[in-house]
Amino acid sequence: MPRVLPESLRAQAAATKGFLPEDEAQALAAAALSAPAGTWLEVGSYCGKSTIWLGWAAAQRDSQLVTLDHHRGSEENQPGWEWHDPTLVDVETQRLETLPHLRRTVWRAHLEDSVSIVVADTRQAAQWWNSPLTFLFLDGNHTEEVAQHDYAAFAPFLVPGGVLAVHDVFENPADGGQPPWHVVQRATGEDGFEQTGRCGSLRVLRKP
Ligand code: MG
Repeated sequence: MPRVLPESLRAQAAATKGFLPEDEAQALAAAALSAPAGTWLEVGSYCGKSTIWLGWAAAQRDSQLVTLDHHRGSEENQPGWEWHDPTLVDVETQRLETLPHLRRTVWRAHLEDSVSIVVADTRQAAQWWNSPLTFLFLDGNHTEEVAQHDYAAFAPFLVPGGVLAVHDVFENPADGGQPPWHVVQRATGEDGFEQTGRCGSLRVLRKP
């Protein structure tokens, strides 16, 4: 099996709505490919841009990717905010609704065998999640409360040697919100994770 994302999938990922530059997507896929085989969890699916890269990597590694999202969008995706996309509003509920887009993305990419879609708030999913993880990608809601919650809820399930990737990490407040950076500091501080890579706002850490 090739270890480079096929051109057809690369083009599909590039055309999928989302907030992940291609160099960071490549680094994310490389981080996932470096993880042990097993169950992988992506927090924050949105329309599936990163899910294509991670789902493909999971297929290469005989792993299963679970992608978790409530699909109502984060604060910055709501009407009046910077990252609102009116084409993602459901006509009946008048709420942001990204699930149909994700479903189509996974189907078009032929990744249904390696990707499981879970629709839930992370605080709901944390109540029943109990599978060990070999790879965890944190890219959900970026408020301090939820970012810290998502780390505290799911990082303990990483096995030793498991890989943690965190997106939208900005050390400098002028570049972006600080909660993901606080999560990285917590992981590398009290929890002893080792930083093994970075690309743009993506950090890759390994659990001791
Ligand atoms: Mg992100």
